Amino acid sequence: MKWFIDSNTLKSGFIKEVEKSSSQKIAHCYQCGKCSAGCPIAYEMEYTPNQIMRMIQLGMKDVVLASNTIWLCVSCITCTARCPREIDVAEVMDVLRRFAYRSGVYPIKGRNVPLFNKVFLRNIEKYGRLFEMSLIGTFNMLSGTPFKDTSLAPKMFLRHKINLLPEKVKGIKEIRGIFKKAGKVSRAKRQSLITIGELIHNYLKR
Ligand code: SF4
Ligand code: SF4
Repeated sequence: MKWFIDSNTLKSGFIKEVEKSSSQKIAHCYQCGKCSAGCPIAYEMEYTPNQIMRMIQLGMKDVVLASNTIWLCVSCITCTARCPREIDVAEVMDVLRRFAYRSGVYPIKGRNVPLFNKVFLRNIEKYGRLFEMSLIGTFNMLSGTPFKDTSLAPKMFLRHKINLLPEKVKGIKEIRGIFKKAGKVSRAKRQSLITIGELIHNYLKR
């Protein structure tokens, strides 16, 4: 794919924005491609991790934030471990997700991915581990597909793949502390209907 990059894009300062928020030196990336070679999800991404790094260098903010790459990243940190320039690529992906979420920019393909990401994180925050029933139910309701995959539920339940009641991990306080410290959202706001309203509002805005 060819891109026309004008001087305004090159001077947009996007690289500085990302570097400041991630504390990573994106300019140090020399396109060796080791991050992408190790990324387990690269085959599904619109742009591989090294392409995203190059696009950031070139100031291509709109393309980067609208790509599905940042939402498909599973934060496995393989890219970070492999980078010879010691760039925390996974952290950069996390920063880009935050930028995209705050700007209300979502990928054209896989538009439910940001919603899933949000619901998934809330689930982990609440129980310390995944409670599938809550995840599926909340995601289906907010994505406007309340009956999606419900026919699979009885089979999964009989095979003990999903539980009816949640199980909390022992260190749930510590996990919540991590979320709080990471400054995701204040506890009061997280549990209020306003937050759910915001989520629905953001979703419908797309
Ligand atoms: S952290 Fe994300 S970008 Fe990096 S290797 Fe894992 S999935 Fe790929
Ligand atoms: S591994 Fe590091 S230097 Fe190589 S392309 Fe990826 S981010 Fe750039």
